[in-house]
Amino acid sequence: MQPMSNQFQIRQEMCEIGHRIWMRGFCAGNEGNHSVRIADDRVLSTPTGVSKGFLTPDQITVVDMDGNQIDKHNKMKRTSEVLLHLAIYKARPDVRAVIHSHPAHATAFAMTNVPIPEGIHPEAEVFLGKVPTTKYTTPGYKEVGESVVALIKSDTNTVMMGNHGSVCFDTSLIQAYYKLEILDNYCRILLLARQLGKINPLSQDEIIELLKVKENFGMKDTRLSCAPQGCVGKDNDAFLAPFDVRPKSACSCREDGGVEPHAAQIDENQLEQMVQHVTDQIMAGMKA
Ligand SMILES: [Zn+2]
Repeated sequence: MQPMSNQFQIRQEMCEIGHRIWMRGFCAGNEGNHSVRIADDRVLSTPTGVSKGFLTPDQITVVDMDGNQIDKHNKMKRTSEVLLHLAIYKARPDVRAVIHSHPAHATAFAMTNVPIPEGIHPEAEVFLGKVPTTKYTTPGYKEVGESVVALIKSDTNTVMMGNHGSVCFDTSLIQAYYKLEILDNYCRILLLARQLGKINPLSQDEIIELLKVKENFGMKDTRLSCAPQGCVGKDNDAFLAPFDVRPKSACSCREDGGVEPHAAQIDENQLEQMVQHVTDQIMAGMKA
């Protein structure tokens, strides 16, 4: 258990990190939550119903590893998502801090069920590694934690939650926060790059070299053993494929500028009938 003086510092740090999360727009309104494990059976957790940008140290709640709130005098109630945090702490005893957020650029991938691509950006490979995505589960239910823990390996530090947001975890709160920043910045770069043109993934040799550099930094990456067989980037198609697929259904134009004979043609009579139909509907709606 951390001494009380250290505990106050951790509470202050949780407020500072909350402020950064809110300032960076990783959470809106009262969204998101973060926690720090301070002992085997004690976790400091952000309360429910408070913007992470306006947290004060006294609002931070204390829970045990079963999710029971220990500080009964605290007017604030612990977040219902603390069950997700506790599931991660139980699965990975090395983890000391967890941050759940809704970073817009990264969450866009989770909304569209597009896996976060790999083997493209060196910093994302070194600091995030493989970022898996869960299926959607109802927030606050224990299934959220189960779905995340099922995808966590010994080297995982970030998981996307389907149709929801992200969860980052590490050996300290600041390190977990850096993962969140790197995740959303990486996804923002991907979305910007996609508008410019085709993204160039790293070659297999470049990926293997990068993962070896990562290992030399003391950061283990389980993908190093399967990278020569092409495991890095095997789920990239969902993000990269649209560049190679011409949207045939949207255009029936030939390369010589002509129009295919089967192209749908609407004559003037049909168009007039459609306009009349819509007008009738609007007039009927106004009379109702
Ligand atoms: Zn959430």
